[in-house]
Amino acid sequence: MSRTRLVVGNWKMNASRRGAVQMLDSFLEGAGELLAGSDAVEVVICPPFPYLAAVAERLGQQHLPVSLGAQDLSQHESGAHTGEVSGAMLLDFACKWVLAGHSERRQAQAESDHCVAGKCTRARHSGLIPIVCIGETLRDREAGQVQSVLARQLDAVLATGVLAQPGDLAVAYEPVWAIGSGQAATGEQIEQTHAFIRDRLACCPASPSRPGAPFDAQAAAEIPILYGGSVTADNAAALFALRHVDGVLVGGASLHAESFLPIVRAAREAKRCKQ
Ligand code: PEP
Repeated sequence: MSRTRLVVGNWKMNASRRGAVQMLDSFLEGAGELLAGSDAVEVVICPPFPYLAAVAERLGQQHLPVSLGAQDLSQHESGAHTGEVSGAMLLDFACKWVLAGHSERRQAQAESDHCVAGKCTRARHSGLIPIVCIGETLRDREAGQVQSVLARQLDAVLATGVLAQPGDLAVAYEPVWAIGSGQAATGEQIEQTHAFIRDRLACCPASPSRPGAPFDAQAAAEIPILYGGSVTADNAAALFALRHVDGVLVGGASLHAESFLPIVRAAREAKRCKQ
């Protein structure tokens, strides 16, 4: 099975308007020779909301497989939700992707599984593709609860019934303890967990809103599963060599062209067919 590998840069709450454009320009300058004329890799840039327009404008001027993503969206369609940004607004700015359920939002903004499921529903209804972020805390891992936590987070989203085609979503496995810690999960941990996620996509239990499993094994095999958590230029090639790793979600290392470009290069050079 061959899929386009995804490299997603999550800028979080960093940069300034000028800095965002500078970061993007230096990235695009180096990305040209890596990405031109190839469909092997798609890069997704997720800037802070206020810089979406500036980044969209720059991306619209080039013909590389670099798309725009947002870091979050409202679970509501429109109306009296001060401070929220709707899926339709993101689409207006040419966003294609949107992160849903990043652990920083689950933890700091107390987003529940139910809320994340609502955001995925809203994303699909708006024509955006959610990148569903799931991951266990260190405490969960030490308590032997990795699979039960991931299953709970994933099932809530699959039960919405709105994710019916493999192209309707991507899943990002991001162990909370690996994010921003400099300590990525091991290859063994990632392979085990991604295989579990792949299986779960194909046999998640039925629910009232989704009476049958949404994906058969073949469809589940086409859903991109990304790894996130301290991905760097140094470990990217090893990550892309792992079974069931179809892409990476990158925080800190996406903030500078010098650290982001080698990750894109590793994606470009990874073997295409490995499943
Ligand atoms: C993230 O924010 O999703 C992330 C993985 O961050 P970092 O790459 O800095 O660990």
